[in-house]
Amino acid sequence: MRLLVDPHTHTIASAHAYSTILENAQAAAKRGIKVLGITDHAPALEDAPHVLYFKNLHVLDRELYGVKMLYGAELNICDYEGRVDLDEQILENLDFCIASFHTVLLKAGSKNQNTRAMLGAMDNPYVKIIGHPEDGNIPVDYVELVKHARETGTMLEVNNSSLKTAYYRLNVRENLMEMLQLCEKYGVPIAVGSDAHFANAVGNFDCAIKILEEISFPKELVANTSVEKFLKLIGREVKV
Ligand SMILES: [Zn+2]
Ligand SMILES: [Zn+2]
Repeated sequence: MRLLVDPHTHTIASAHAYSTILENAQAAAKRGIKVLGITDHAPALEDAPHVLYFKNLHVLDRELYGVKMLYGAELNICDYEGRVDLDEQILENLDFCIASFHTVLLKAGSKNQNTRAMLGAMDNPYVKIIGHPEDGNIPVDYVELVKHARETGTMLEVNNSSLKTAYYRLNVRENLMEMLQLCEKYGVPIAVGSDAHFANAVGNFDCAIKILEEISFPKELVANTSVEKFLKLIGREVKV
């Protein structure tokens, strides 16, 4: 399976990541990625960039090293209602957003609370992907999650870092298997993200692809197999 879009990468603007936008773009070009998402952590996370960073993204080039650039954010789900940490006036100027539950910010609640939090985030029209929803430290009801993803047109992420390097996440593989089976059943598209915090991980989807191939997950439901499909799913026109 060849993936042409990496929607989820971080730069030194998030202080726990280690490469620049240019380094990420160059790494993407080398790996044959056509569309790259720069999605630094939104301001509620302690070492995230200031709100002005997101406001000023318009100064950046739309294409770097031949890679089409998308500038967004990885929003934090801030409460069990699914509120996020950037205002609408900032969100409307971003290309797209991922929303993720980070336990450093919001303690995992009951299964019901966590599920409500993610469902609430999906109701936000600027949220196009729910990031790493497979962490067993944050138990959720996958049937509800997948059904609401279908209702709201939100993609669910298969996060390569969760499988490869995020040792602190729990039951990733088992939870992904459950989620993917439901995505297939309900026809919900998934987005594979590298969640790279260093340029060398940009466009690396090795562990995610292995799982998708192992269960013969339908290619048409993998958003990043086509640039057009991905851009359509985030509500962007294809401009070449
Ligand atoms: Zn995250
Ligand atoms: Zn991330």
